[in-house]
Amino acid sequence: MTQKRILITGAAGFLGSHLCDRFIKEGYHVLAMDNLITGDLSNIEHLFELQNFEFYHHDVSKFVHVAGELDYILHFASPASPIDYLKIPIQTLKVGSLGTHNLLGLAKAKGARMLIASTSEVYGDPNVNPQPEEYWGNVNPVGPRGVYDEAKRFQEAITMAYHTFHGVETRIVRIFNTYGPRMRLNDGRVLPAFIGQALRGEDLTVFGDGSQTRSFCFVDDLIDGIYRLLMSDYASPVNIGNPDEITISQFCEEIIKLTGTSQKIVYKPLPTDDPKQRRPDITKAQEILGWQPKVDRAEGLKITYDYFKSLSPTALSKIEHKDFTSYNK
Ligand code: NAD
Ligand code: UDP
Repeated sequence: MTQKRILITGAAGFLGSHLCDRFIKEGYHVLAMDNLITGDLSNIEHLFELQNFEFYHHDVSKFVHVAGELDYILHFASPASPIDYLKIPIQTLKVGSLGTHNLLGLAKAKGARMLIASTSEVYGDPNVNPQPEEYWGNVNPVGPRGVYDEAKRFQEAITMAYHTFHGVETRIVRIFNTYGPRMRLNDGRVLPAFIGQALRGEDLTVFGDGSQTRSFCFVDDLIDGIYRLLMSDYASPVNIGNPDEITISQFCEEIIKLTGTSQKIVYKPLPTDDPKQRRPDITKAQEILGWQPKVDRAEGLKITYDYFKSLSPTALSKIEHKDFTSYNK
């Protein structure tokens, strides 16, 4: 049997790197692509010695060329944390629109099946909770988060259009807040923010009054859901996330307990359009994919905390955010 070939974009990022590991483990030939705007090669450096792994340093918003056959494409390239996409808004819009268009064109040319990483952000600041896939969302297109939310909504629309009009095999996963090893400590997302603050002996910053909710999914569960969706024959969007909903205040208390920090909570203004509640309705994933999360928050947080503790002191003290100057031209 010939080895299946899969292109993974955003491969040096948090989720992309875990996907590379999974598909290498499944015996695939993995073509990893990333422009390193928010990712880090250290996430995949352990794969470079493998014969069935190749890395391409490339911006997928520009024409994408891949030699040879291709069976699957996983499009995960995109800034994903609010801090990142607020700093590189145009790049975020381009990778969701032009990047997705390029990759759909590649999928069509190669006869490959393509899965795109969409997000719970397509529901915006939702008026229904939990959010089923049928909910159309409550998004402010011109607010600060619009660059990400609308790029992802366009990404879904163009993907469905290629499916309907060109017959490309497509899959759409709507990912809810996911955490685990290889998150960037300074990407601004709430979990690395709290753990980083605890490890550096700083106060923990809760935005707003902390009553907003999120539902956190451990990365291994998410990767398994994505694998099952890719192998399924279901082309409409599927939520993948852990429905165990918690307020950000309670989450902060859990991190304080986990890390044993003696620092206190300080309250900062709530960012514009920060969703008040978020919890996936995972009925479709359960019924269509036979999937549901297995790792509870206590277990997942312990694994993630151990990962952050194992980082070098230099990595821990590096609290400045990524410098995007060269990308913003
Ligand atoms: P990440 O920032 O760790 O990874 C994104 C990767 O994409 C980075 O390595 C970055 O360098 C790369 N990239 C960005 N623009 C690129 C471009 N134009 N060309 C090539 N590479 C590019 O973020 P992540 O958490 O791993 O997110 C991956 C995907 O999953 C994103 O599409 C994101 O929208 C989606 N997602 C993630 C979450 C989550 O909780 N982690 C939730 C919802 C959706
Ligand atoms: N948040 C917080 N303190 C921080 C970082 C984030 O209270 O230092 C809050 C943020 O306002 C949001 C939630 O935590 O309500 C999750 O934020 P994150 O950036 O991780 O992702 P989001 O789900 O908003 O995209």
